[in-house]
Amino acid sequence: MSIIHIARAELRALKPYSAAEQVDGTIRLNANEAAFRNAADRCRRPLNRYPEVRPARLRAMLASHYGVEDSCLLTTRGSSEAIDLLLRAFCRAGVDNVVTPAPTFSMYRHYADIQDAAIREVPLDRSGDFAIQAGALLAACDANTRLVFLCSPNNPTGTVLPRSTLTAILDSLADRTAVIVDEAYAEFSEEPSAIGLLGSHGNLIVLRTLSKALGLAGARCGALIGPPEVIRMLDAIQAPYAMATPVVECIEDALDPRHIDLARGNVRRTVAERDRLAAEFERLPIVRQVWPSGANFLFVRLEDAAGTLEMTRRAGILVRHFGGENADCIRISIGSDEENDRLLDCLRTLPE
Ligand code: PLP
Repeated sequence: MSIIHIARAELRALKPYSAAEQVDGTIRLNANEAAFRNAADRCRRPLNRYPEVRPARLRAMLASHYGVEDSCLLTTRGSSEAIDLLLRAFCRAGVDNVVTPAPTFSMYRHYADIQDAAIREVPLDRSGDFAIQAGALLAACDANTRLVFLCSPNNPTGTVLPRSTLTAILDSLADRTAVIVDEAYAEFSEEPSAIGLLGSHGNLIVLRTLSKALGLAGARCGALIGPPEVIRMLDAIQAPYAMATPVVECIEDALDPRHIDLARGNVRRTVAERDRLAAEFERLPIVRQVWPSGANFLFVRLEDAAGTLEMTRRAGILVRHFGGENADCIRISIGSDEENDRLLDCLRTLPE
């Protein structure tokens, strides 16, 4: 079972960009590069040279980090770029559609809008802890549904998608629709990664990012993990030289086992702080509900969201408010211990 046949036909046939050859130990007069290094260049690899079209060592390191074959992974500029690539590769403008739960990460809609792919949102019921109902989601899909985006843990609710619901969706959509599981916050949850299902489900694509658990949002690096034929097609679509040399070097360093161990410690600290904050919030009279979260944020329902936002802003603390159906809720990212204490102090001063 493969999903490559549902991608745009002209992109399935696209040849990768033919870049100037790069051969170690040769004089490179084939790419119109500068012959001199810039005085500000502090990188290990000289910046007067183009980076590799696709950084092979970085890809191998990321593949090993996520426990997959190199051929199953595309290195991306954050998972944002992966979302954009998928929309462009699978959806014919004005014809195909995308299904997502709501609320969820707003970038799926953003890139669907850019590609002129209709987006069908399936509301999540907050009285049911925002759990995805496979039946409702599948009912929203039709013959032109190319992609289903499932974010687990979900942004902004923090809800974790159980493995049984995911496999029911994957089995039911089979080779008609690609199911994208966005695991931007997976490291903060106990749920096993959907990566383990790639071997048995050819319609599954998993997105990972180094922005959250590895603390590298500024470096812009993520991974799209899926069937090799999908990776090859997306590789041909992605901009040549997408990963800049300073980013490649930074991520190679960050994937050193010593740095990974330290990052894992930071994730444990964040999870402990998340659980402490959740317990503290439960005790605050201004808080009506705190949903269970498997991410590095909490989704909280308030007595008076507008008043709380005003107070936090005045205290110099920014939290996220989305309006709409959940206008009485805010999403709070877990900060450092001190930042979280400052937030609690601010919330405790609010009248009931
Ligand atoms: N996916 C989800 C669910 C997110 O919440 C975010 C960012 O907040 C992203 C993807 C994008 O992450 P990045 O492009 O930094 O990898």
